[in-house]
Amino acid sequence: MKTAERRKRAVNAFAEAKLDAFLVTNLHNVRYLAGFTGSNGALLLYRDRPPVFFTDSRYAVQSSQEVDCKTRVANGPLLDLVTREMEKTRPKRVGVEQDEITLARVEALKKKMPARSELAGVSGLIENLRMVKDAEEIGLIRASVELNSRALENALRRFKAGMRERELAAEIDYQSRKLGAESPSFDTIVAAGARAALPHAHPGGAKIGPGMVLIDMGAFRDGYASDMTRMAHIGAPPPKYKKAYKAVLEAQLAAIDAVRAGAASVAVDRAARRALKGHGLEKEFIHSTGHGLGLEIHEPPRLGRRDKTKLAAGMAITIEPGVYMEGWGGIRIEDTVLVTDNGCEILTPTSKELRVI
Ligand code: ZN
Ligand code: ZN
Repeated sequence: MKTAERRKRAVNAFAEAKLDAFLVTNLHNVRYLAGFTGSNGALLLYRDRPPVFFTDSRYAVQSSQEVDCKTRVANGPLLDLVTREMEKTRPKRVGVEQDEITLARVEALKKKMPARSELAGVSGLIENLRMVKDAEEIGLIRASVELNSRALENALRRFKAGMRERELAAEIDYQSRKLGAESPSFDTIVAAGARAALPHAHPGGAKIGPGMVLIDMGAFRDGYASDMTRMAHIGAPPPKYKKAYKAVLEAQLAAIDAVRAGAASVAVDRAARRALKGHGLEKEFIHSTGHGLGLEIHEPPRLGRRDKTKLAAGMAITIEPGVYMEGWGGIRIEDTVLVTDNGCEILTPTSKELRVI
């Protein structure tokens, strides 16, 4: 079973950090390690004992179907069960996910756990393991990316002149759901004309066209995210748009070209910036080049100016340079790619040819 293999890697990682047990409370990490998709669960991993999963009575049946380790069902707060379990096994140093667990929960744990146990805050332990996707995850990301591209085409087929940003965003979400998405992987961005200068614009009442429209969209399918940005131009594009589009596409292709196992993520970011510099547009590129994705829409690694992570085969990342000019608009082109030993595979099937509607 995949989750058992993942738990083994997690145990190795925290044993190296001199921990005897590790309490997983980040629900994405719980899902990754135990298969549980509900909203209330925790997993206690031990260095030298079988793991225990905790949930509440609403999830008694669901967890019995999803979770492949010993399960305890709580009638009250989960942490009461966790501390009772710790009373029995008395682990000395217990890691907690300090970026997720609240101070209130830490205090509650401390009050009730065995006197000789101590908590140690840990960052990114499971997230680091999640960076490199296994074959099953790659299959799920691939399917999510394909669904997302199909949803865009279905929505654009229903596009009519005068449609508002929020109408097209709703159409995208609807098409995506019809194709099997659980939800968008983030709030769909549809930004028309000068509003495309806002990299994370919320779709509003503005009418789309004539002029540019930026669409950034993603879906969760079987828990895994996709992410893509495409531009369309309603009516014939002016030379400035064509020039900028060409520059961003060149930057995106240069960044994709720099992706390979062993490359530092900053090298990918630098490739995009260098290409834009050739067009005098480097100052208009105001965010990082990309990010990892998987069970979350944004996960490590980051591909920015200061990110030194070494890319490894099996990482799923986005490549999304863009340029933004206040009062004019913005252009971003984003694909999801899979890092391979010799380069990468572009998972996003949607064409990057300049699209005119
Ligand atoms: Zn993205
Ligand atoms: Zn995006």
